[in-house]
Amino acid sequence: MKAITVFCGSGLSNDSHIISEAYNLGVYLAKQEITLIYGGAKIGLMGKVAEGVLDNNGRVIGVIPDFLTTKEVVHEGLTELIVTQTMHERKNEMHNLCDGLIALPGGFGTMEELFEALTWAQLGLHQKPIGLLNSNGFYEDLLQLVKTMISKELLQSSYEQLLVSDKHIESLIDKMKQFEPHPVPEWMNKHL
Ligand code: AMP
Repeated sequence: MKAITVFCGSGLSNDSHIISEAYNLGVYLAKQEITLIYGGAKIGLMGKVAEGVLDNNGRVIGVIPDFLTTKEVVHEGLTELIVTQTMHERKNEMHNLCDGLIALPGGFGTMEELFEALTWAQLGLHQKPIGLLNSNGFYEDLLQLVKTMISKELLQSSYEQLLVSDKHIESLIDKMKQFEPHPVPEWMNKHL
């Protein structure tokens, strides 16, 4: 993998382990020479991941919509900053530039980005691995919700494997490298 898109909170969290894992993910990406693609902000966990990469001479591409490029938000020290007109263009760009995606802990924005990537994978629109960094068990409830969706027959059990999760950075990225894409459903092939 040459580039990974990271979704994570624009807030900082009150959990110091979550904050240090965001920074450590950045350090790990730089050491592995994997480019970080992310939302281009200097605030919150987003800023921590970028800082981890930049402190270790790695490459960071920020993709930010025009209306968020205020001085309080935008990170001005990135390798590259791509400014888009809309949020939709931004997500498309973040998606196209990467070989895999990781969600760290976050709020609504992070969940929206994660679930869009999962939905697109489910529809066979991409085959990129999607990782959940389950720092301090942050994502336990979500993993449980996935099981509930399956037990209520609202999600096919085979789609559970679209979500690669681990509590540790290195093993998460190893699992993502071994990810086997879900076969595109026959009925979907006809429409692609
Ligand atoms: P949230 O989890 O609600 O804090 O939203 C974080 C996600 O939404 C990030 O991955 C960003 O792509 C996007 N986002 C939300 N707020 C901002 C912001 N102030 N600056 C840049 N991106 C943001």
